[in-house]
Amino acid sequence: MSVIHKHVIVGGGFGGLRAARLLANRDDMSVLVINPQLNFEYHGSLYRSANGYSPLETVIPYREIFRDTNIEYLQDFMIDLDPATKHIKLLSGKVIYYDSLTLALGYEPEYFGIPGMREFSKTLYSLADALELRKALTVLATKGFHKAAPARVIVAGGGPTGVEVAATISHFFELITGDSRVNVILVEGQSRLLGSLPEDFALRVKDCLGNKVKVLCGKKVIRASKESLYIADSAALSFDLLIWTAGSSANSYFRQRSDLFEVDHKGRVLVDHNLLTTHDSVYVIGDSASTEYSGTAHAAIEMGTFVASHLQAVLESRSVPCFKATQPSYAVPTGHDTAVAIQDGMIVSDSKGWVSRRQLDLSALSLIAGEDVAYAHWQKGENIATIYDQNK
Ligand SMILES: Cc1cc2nc3c(=O)[nH]c(=O)nc-3n(C[C@H](O)[C@H](O)[C@H](O)COP(=O)(O)OP(=O)(O)OC[C@H]3O[C@@H](n4cnc5c(N)ncnc54)[C@H](O)[C@@H]3O)c2cc1C
Repeated sequence: MSVIHKHVIVGGGFGGLRAARLLANRDDMSVLVINPQLNFEYHGSLYRSANGYSPLETVIPYREIFRDTNIEYLQDFMIDLDPATKHIKLLSGKVIYYDSLTLALGYEPEYFGIPGMREFSKTLYSLADALELRKALTVLATKGFHKAAPARVIVAGGGPTGVEVAATISHFFELITGDSRVNVILVEGQSRLLGSLPEDFALRVKDCLGNKVKVLCGKKVIRASKESLYIADSAALSFDLLIWTAGSSANSYFRQRSDLFEVDHKGRVLVDHNLLTTHDSVYVIGDSASTEYSGTAHAAIEMGTFVASHLQAVLESRSVPCFKATQPSYAVPTGHDTAVAIQDGMIVSDSKGWVSRRQLDLSALSLIAGEDVAYAHWQKGENIATIYDQNK
C-alpha cells in the first residue's frame, strides 16, 4: 500500500489556494486547508464593495472553490506550531500532524502606534470593514445632501488602496443622492502618490483623479481625534469621515515566534530559494514571506505555484529550478469605470485602463478558483448592490 503524503496549508488567501489547487487530486497526497473564514475574500475589490457595488464579487465560498477536488477544508485558526514533532495547534483545541506545511498567513493592518488612528478611522482590510465603511459613507451622503457644505472625507495613505477608494467616493454619493458633491482629500506622507510604483505611472494617476480628489503629499500624520487629523508642521485637517489605508504588516505570528522564524525589518519571514524556512518541510509564502514583490496577489500566486511544483518534485525525487519572482502588472482604478494600467510596456488610462484592470482581476481569481467559478463572481462586480439600484 502506498504512503499518502499529508500537506497542510494554513491560510486560504491567494498563496494558499493556488498551492492547494495545483496539488489537488493526486493519489499520493492529501491536502488540508485551514482558514478561519468560510469564504475567500478578494481584497482588490473591497473599495468597490465599500462604494456601492455588489459584495458578491468580493467573496467566494470555499465550498465552490474546492468543488470537484479532494481538498479538505477546516474552519479553524492556527495558534502555534511545533516543527520538531511536525504538529500545529488550532484554536479549537485540535492538534494536526503534517508531513509538509505551507504557512500563507497574509498581512494585518498596521497603525504604527499613531494615537487615535485605530479608534477614529475606518479601514479596508476585510469585507466586514468594507461594509462598515459603506454604511458610514451612506449616512454621510444622505445627511450631507440636506446641508449647504459638502461632507469632508479624508483618506490617509496614498498607495493603491487609498487611491482607489478615494477615487470612487463621489460616484457613490451620486448613486445614493443624485449629487456627487463631496470633498475628498487624499493625504500621503511621501513626496508623491504610489511610492512603490514608477513615477510616470503615479503622475498619470494623479492627473486622472482630476478634481474628484484633492491630493496632499509630504504630509506626515501624527495623531487623529474624533474630528481632526493632525499633521507634522501643518495645520490640522477637520473631517466628517477618516479612512486609514496607510499601513499593513506581515502576520504578527512570525514576530511572536521569533525563536522559530527569522524575520526582516518588515516582520516577513526569511525563506531560502525554495521558499523553505529553517524547519524541515515548512514553506512560508505570500505577504508574510520576505521575497521580491511580496505584498501583491501576483507574488502570492507565483509563490503558491512554486511550492506546488517543488513539493511534487520532492515526492518524485526530481529537482526544480529555484524560485524567481517576476514583476507584477499594475492597474490602479481612478474612478468607478476608469483606471491607469501598463499595457505592453505603455501607460494606458481611462476606459482602456479599466478593461486592463478587470482582466487582471479575472485572471488572478481564475488561478485560484478555476475559470467558471471566478467568472461567475467577477461578473457580479459589474452590478450595483441591489439596495442602491433604484437611484441608478
Ligand atoms: C484593500 C486591499 C486591496 C488590495 N488590492 C490589490 C490589488 O488590486 N492587486 C494586488 O495584486 N494585490 C492587492 N492587495 C494585496 C493582496 O490582497 C495580497 O498581497 C494578497 O492577498 C496576499 O495573499 P496571501 O496568500 O499572502 O494572504 P491573504 O490573501 O491575506 O490570505 C491570508 C489568509 O490567512 C488567514 N490566516 C491568517 N492567520 C491565520 C491563522 N493563524 N490560522 C489560519 N488562517 C489564518 C487569513 O484569514 C486569510 O484568509 C490588496 C490588499 C488590500 C488590503
